[in-house]
Amino acid sequence: MPLRRLRSYRKTLAFRLTLWYAGVFAVSSCVAFLLFYTLITSVFRDRTDQELLGQAREFSTVLAARGLEAVKSLAMLEAQAAGVKKVFFRLLSSSGQVFSSSNMSYWQDIDIREAAIKELVRDRRNVFETITIPNRKDKVRVLHVMVGTGIILQIGQSMEADSRFIDAFKNIFVITMVLLVGLAAGVGWFMARRAVSGVEAVTRTAREISGGTLDKRVPVGTRGDEIDQLAATFNQMLGRIQALVTEIKEMSDNIAHDLKSPITRIRGTAEVTLTTGKAIGEYESMAAGTVEECDRLLDMINTMLMITKAESGLDKLNDEGIDLARLVRDACELLEPVAEDKGLGLTCDTPDACHLVGDRRMLQRILANLLDNALKYTSSGGAVKVSLSEKDGEEVVVAVQDTGVGIPAGDLPHIFERFYRCDHSRSEPGTGLGLSLARAFARAHQGDIAVTSTSGQGSTFTLILPRNKGT
Ligand code: ADP
Repeated sequence: MPLRRLRSYRKTLAFRLTLWYAGVFAVSSCVAFLLFYTLITSVFRDRTDQELLGQAREFSTVLAARGLEAVKSLAMLEAQAAGVKKVFFRLLSSSGQVFSSSNMSYWQDIDIREAAIKELVRDRRNVFETITIPNRKDKVRVLHVMVGTGIILQIGQSMEADSRFIDAFKNIFVITMVLLVGLAAGVGWFMARRAVSGVEAVTRTAREISGGTLDKRVPVGTRGDEIDQLAATFNQMLGRIQALVTEIKEMSDNIAHDLKSPITRIRGTAEVTLTTGKAIGEYESMAAGTVEECDRLLDMINTMLMITKAESGLDKLNDEGIDLARLVRDACELLEPVAEDKGLGLTCDTPDACHLVGDRRMLQRILANLLDNALKYTSSGGAVKVSLSEKDGEEVVVAVQDTGVGIPAGDLPHIFERFYRCDHSRSEPGTGLGLSLARAFARAHQGDIAVTSTSGQGSTFTLILPRNKGT
């Protein structure tokens, strides 16, 4: 594997997780080994001690029954039977003087243990020692015990068999450890790779997106684990970014197409006045026209900004408790004079009160736009009827019904688009933004606006608002 690739692997989460996994495994195995090792050695030592004590008991019985000479020959016999390299016996006086011993040629390095003898004489308690002989691998367990009055027995037993077993155990442990740590690293690597594969998918998608494709999404698994949640959240964020980018694009398209014409008009009027106009009156009317056009332009820009903010969710609702029935009646009252001027009948049918939570300013604007349109697109003698009702206790419905020009079926799917105006509206003032704004505000309340219309007979716009919108 090239060095650079190895270095880049070292930085990965999967590599570090594997290292941790293998490390924790190795440390816990070592701890387990140490515990086991301590247990085994202590079991072996106890067993040896019991054997030594058993022999000491035998010696003291023989001494009591048959005297010192019998004990001396017992020492010889026992040492020969067990093997002179395995055990030795020494009979000592309490001052450390040797009475007798088994064949000590193999045990020359083990001297009279004065400290042990003193301790035995002083405390009257058996003294065990584990002695290491220089240049010899195996240790010796030695017991000093009083077998008769003033007679001390020193018994030593080689721990060679135990050491062999423990060495074999150590070797097996090391080999097993190496294999298991290798296996643990492999399993750890596999698991870590599996765990981070979801993160890699997110990274890949993010990389593709930075290359310009906002419509890509990370595949979301079905396990519902942290990675799936990350992928789902990432996709949600992408959806939101995509919506915002689309908004910005639409906005700039609108600026390019629809705001250009009023500006061109203003410029054209000014140019014509400058080149042809002579009288001050002509300049005055040009200035008045410019102010009017600029107001219209500003109104359009503000409305567009409001739509964009409402649609993108940037405009937070100023929620408060509202009596919608009252809001509807107020709107009707406000526009009553307009209806009268135009010779239209305006009726308002609402319950006494209808409470819900919403943004007063937005709801007023929706009602004003719908009513304004109904009055605008209904000719003299017609009627506009506004009604408020509740549906299943969950929704509130405001219907604005008119007997006006109606909307041709071909236009119906487009009337909520920005700047869309039907042919019949050319003679009426307007920007084509009113319905877009009304619907954006309704949707910001988790509601909507629906329309039914028959060309030449009239239209009904229905504002639907949830009574309890989720926050
Ligand atoms: P405008 O400023 O043109 O009224 P809107 O967005 O409010 O813009 O409406 C978009 C178009 O929908 C209008 O131009 C009009 O053609 C049509 N429209 C809206 N309301 C009505 C209505 N009540 N009756 C007939 N046509 C309507």
